[in-house]
Amino acid sequence: MTVFTMFMSIYLFISVTISIFYSAYVISKGRTALSKSFSALCFLVSIYLLGYLGEINSTSLNQMEFWNMVQYLSIPFYPVFSLLISLFYTKTVVSFRKKLLWLFLVPITVFIIRLTNPLHHLYYLSMNIKMMYGINYLSLSKGPIYYLYCGYLCIIFISIITIYLINLFNCNAKDKIGYLILILSSIIPFIGLALIVINPYMLNIDYVIILLPASLFLLNIALFKFDFLELKTLARQALFDKSPYAMLLLDNEDILIDFNSAAKIVFPILNRKSSKKSIYTILKNETEFLSIVNNTNMDTLVFSHYETDEYYSVHIVPINILTDLKIGKLVTLTNITVQKNTEKVLKILATTDPLTNVFNRAEFMNLAKLELERSNSTGIYVSLLMLDIDYFKKINDTRGHAAGDSVLIHFTSEMKKHFGKDAIIARLGGEEFAILLPNTNIKTCKSITENFLSHISNNPATYEKNTINYTFSAGISTNNKKHITLENLLKFADKSLYVSKSNGRKRVSLHTFYE
Ligand code: GH3
Ligand code: MG
Ligand code: MG
Repeated sequence: MTVFTMFMSIYLFISVTISIFYSAYVISKGRTALSKSFSALCFLVSIYLLGYLGEINSTSLNQMEFWNMVQYLSIPFYPVFSLLISLFYTKTVVSFRKKLLWLFLVPITVFIIRLTNPLHHLYYLSMNIKMMYGINYLSLSKGPIYYLYCGYLCIIFISIITIYLINLFNCNAKDKIGYLILILSSIIPFIGLALIVINPYMLNIDYVIILLPASLFLLNIALFKFDFLELKTLARQALFDKSPYAMLLLDNEDILIDFNSAAKIVFPILNRKSSKKSIYTILKNETEFLSIVNNTNMDTLVFSHYETDEYYSVHIVPINILTDLKIGKLVTLTNITVQKNTEKVLKILATTDPLTNVFNRAEFMNLAKLELERSNSTGIYVSLLMLDIDYFKKINDTRGHAAGDSVLIHFTSEMKKHFGKDAIIARLGGEEFAILLPNTNIKTCKSITENFLSHISNNPATYEKNTINYTFSAGISTNNKKHITLENLLKFADKSLYVSKSNGRKRVSLHTFYE
């Protein structure tokens, strides 16, 4: 063994070991599309180097041919992985897609042609063992497919360098150095390839092999030193995978590309097979959610889940590459059920009377105002009545306050049944109530109220198995005079209520204004 062979063997052996170590280390750090491609590249380079190590240490042509063949397990494929790395690193492509498999068409063809070379000699015209400076080497006379393949390699490496150059000009200052290193690492095999083809010293050395570890080393610096595999990518991956928020990644055609485990909890129908299908097919029952996804103008919205009573707020972020090219969207769902339910409870507390469960005065004013506006615009009358329980103080005084409460509860529950679901019923205070009846003229309102008065007289309240008889007085107003305000309607109804009281109670009066 010559000093040169020994030196080369040590160099190759160390490079093989480091490449295999890189390959295992990178994949142990995380499984992004980028880290998988980089790991595959390191592994392929190690096979290439191992093949060459075997070749320079062979003593017969057969052995050399064998080790040369080993190199071809890697040679056609590693440029494709370099290209994939450039695509993933620059986010030109976000994840593995079926379309990317086309990139392997040429490498597989080259591999088959090289494998079957003894049959057609299109790749290598001939292979001979030769000796130069005391070193055995495989003298290869290159065939047409070899040169075609070299052309293909040039296209691949020029593409890679172009991708990095485009990003170099579009990135911020701190990422520039990373891209420069990547460009350098991509130029190196290119130089090796040029040296093989030109072969300036007639040495028959595989310059690509010699330069490849340096290229890999630079690639490694760019990916690790510039925080790419280690933190940025892994942090983003962890954020996606382990986020408590459900996340769905969709492409431009709303095909589901990826989803996290929180999304599986929200939509249990999601499984491994869901990816690559339209979100409209997978979640066809979630119509509310899909309408949000479909409407690109909305970005934060709330929907209620199809099966559970859960509420989610939806946030949609477009995913762009380079500047404005939109390639998909990230849909994030936050469970806001607790917040929604609290809002509901707070709304009930703020708008209803806790004893009788009818609206309070403030809510009555809001709802009645809306109804009055609607009535004024359609010309269909509303009627407003005010009711006050007669001699209520006496009930409290003789039967106790709790009995008085039960009368109030009885009175409102009977009101709800009698006046129907469209009636806006409110407790204005004490034992005084107001009802707004939409689409009801004053005459109808009077007769409904008189019916109610006789109903209450015939169906007294009960408290601790004792009946409590009570009656009420009522006053009615309506909006048959245009532009009447709610305040005036209330004032007129109150006046007519006063008339009922002063005329002896247990009666219904219309305001004189309407007679
Ligand atoms: P009138 O026929 O003139 O309306 O006489 P009244 O006794 O019904 O009217 P008054 O305004 O003199 O008395 C109303 C009473 O209602 C006084 C108050 O203690 C009582 N009251 C107010 N709110 C409640 C309540 O929530 N529960 C009970 N039990 N009583 C209440
Ligand atoms: Mg009263
Ligand atoms: Mg009163």
